[in-house]
Amino acid sequence: MPPVNVQAIVLRRRPLGEADKVLTLFTREMGKISAIAKGARKPTSKLAGATETCVQARFHLAQGKTFWIVTQASVERARARLHRLLMNAASAIYVCELVDRLLEEGVPDEDLFDLLSGALDELETSDRPMWSLCLFENALMLQQGYTPVLDTCTRCGKPVDGEQIAFHPDAGGVLCASCARTATGTVKLSRLAWLTWRVLNAGGQADFPGEPSAGELEHAVHLHLRYHLDREMKSTQVLWQLRQELIG
Ligand SMILES: [Zn+2]
Repeated sequence: MPPVNVQAIVLRRRPLGEADKVLTLFTREMGKISAIAKGARKPTSKLAGATETCVQARFHLAQGKTFWIVTQASVERARARLHRLLMNAASAIYVCELVDRLLEEGVPDEDLFDLLSGALDELETSDRPMWSLCLFENALMLQQGYTPVLDTCTRCGKPVDGEQIAFHPDAGGVLCASCARTATGTVKLSRLAWLTWRVLNAGGQADFPGEPSAGELEHAVHLHLRYHLDREMKSTQVLWQLRQELIG
């Protein structure tokens, strides 16, 4: 294969040998691939800056025996401010890890690329990293086709409304008050949290709903994501542990 020039986000990097790195790259053009950046762990290496997690760069790659080899890289978005804020950095690393788990090797997904790139930009400056993370997790679920049912009861089909709404992650949506009485494993959403979620799922821009509604929605969205991804991916346990350790 001839050398290629791709736009990519570094999802993960691990050390190799004395000074090299193995990168997991999410490229716009070729999807997820692995590449070796030789000497990139030396502080003086020209590749050092472009080969850190969350960085977006343009990579020149040559085909090696089993991996691609990075021959040149120019940073497009360093997202250097990210690492000044612990919570923002932890959220960004989790987001990259999540996308890494979700992607199959070599399958391009431009929508997901743009979603991830936008989320990392947002996290770099966000005053509310948990809320930014919630918006990303929700957008990811919509992009993957797991839109929760929020307007009618997932058990009996009746329209749902009220001051408190029960969300049932296993059912992929909400329950009416009468069905919620006999269900286990539901989480409560305030009316504001529920309305905010509906706006987001209709493709609208929702204002930050304030606490405690934001916290309720963050929790419900994450449970929704977990339910679907646990069924889809084999090794989510480590990922949820990582999220717990990083973000709480
Ligand atoms: Zn019902």
